[in-house]
Amino acid sequence: MNPHDIAFIGLGNMGLPMAANLAKAGHAVTAFDLSADAVDKARAQGLRVAASAAQAAEGVAVVVSMLPASRHVESLFLGDDGLLGKLAAGTLVIDCSTIAPASAKKVEEAATVRGLHMIDAPVSGGTAGAVAGTLTFIVGGEATALELARPVLQAMGKNIFHMGAAGSGQVAKLCNNMALGVIMAVTGEALALGAAHGLDAKVLSQMMGVSTGRSWATEVCNPWPGVLENAPASRGYTGGFGSDLMLKDLGLAAEAAMASGATIPLGELARNLYAMNKQAGRGGLDFSSVVKLVTG
Ligand code: NAD
Repeated sequence: MNPHDIAFIGLGNMGLPMAANLAKAGHAVTAFDLSADAVDKARAQGLRVAASAAQAAEGVAVVVSMLPASRHVESLFLGDDGLLGKLAAGTLVIDCSTIAPASAKKVEEAATVRGLHMIDAPVSGGTAGAVAGTLTFIVGGEATALELARPVLQAMGKNIFHMGAAGSGQVAKLCNNMALGVIMAVTGEALALGAAHGLDAKVLSQMMGVSTGRSWATEVCNPWPGVLENAPASRGYTGGFGSDLMLKDLGLAAEAAMASGATIPLGELARNLYAMNKQAGRGGLDFSSVVKLVTG
């Protein structure tokens, strides 16, 4: 097996630029997605495309997956016709999707039984980080598997954190996103409170940006239209990280809390806020659109 032969499964908003960066770094990437539209976009970027996941993975040393949720990852890898059964012993599987920790563990255990190496490596950094190749990888799994994966991850990102055994990468990712979901919602509330008193949201954000209320929500993805030119809020909340994906992550955090007995009162509240944002028809918009719950 040539260590540079990589199959990339899932060519959506994140997967396509990640696969393109692997190809740019000199890896021989064969890509696959169920969506014809995604496949067309991959071809337009010069990627080699296969007719099925199994065909993409034939003879490769590494399989990278970037799929929406647990059920997609389980259906790709497990089951009678799952990919794990088709890979040669020693193949490395890197799942970058954000999924339930229990699901990541289940797939990793099945991979290990078959003599494969597997890590869960969900990412932070959004679509901009995927394009720029500056993602943070949050890894769970054996240290030996991570060392095999390191050169592949380095072609797509700049930070790698090993959090512990299989599933730990997913737990850490959910912790980060739960904090992000809460901070975004409360930053929107703070700006709305200021605006209701006649304050300029831009000046308020600038003040908070150098004070103790500072965060990614004040500085990079400010939820108030017009405060930051490049933020989704300033282009009708399009692009960025979907509100429904945040809702998914908060649901996974709630499940993880129930499984461990941890209590997450603010995380549960935030999950309901993003569910309300979905009900209001904004599930497909950037998650910073949650501010509209308080601004109307
Ligand atoms: P997306 O919906 O844009 O892309 C997912 C792709 O997977 C789609 O093209 C879909 O057709 C494909 N797919 C689904 N099942 C498949 C299968 N069995 N075989 C082949 N292809 C299949 O999603 P995305 O925004 O790229 O996100 C992917 C993952 O990354 C999610 O778990 C998400 O939570 C996580 N994530 C997203 C962001 C972001 O900013 N978008 C940031 C960090 C993490």
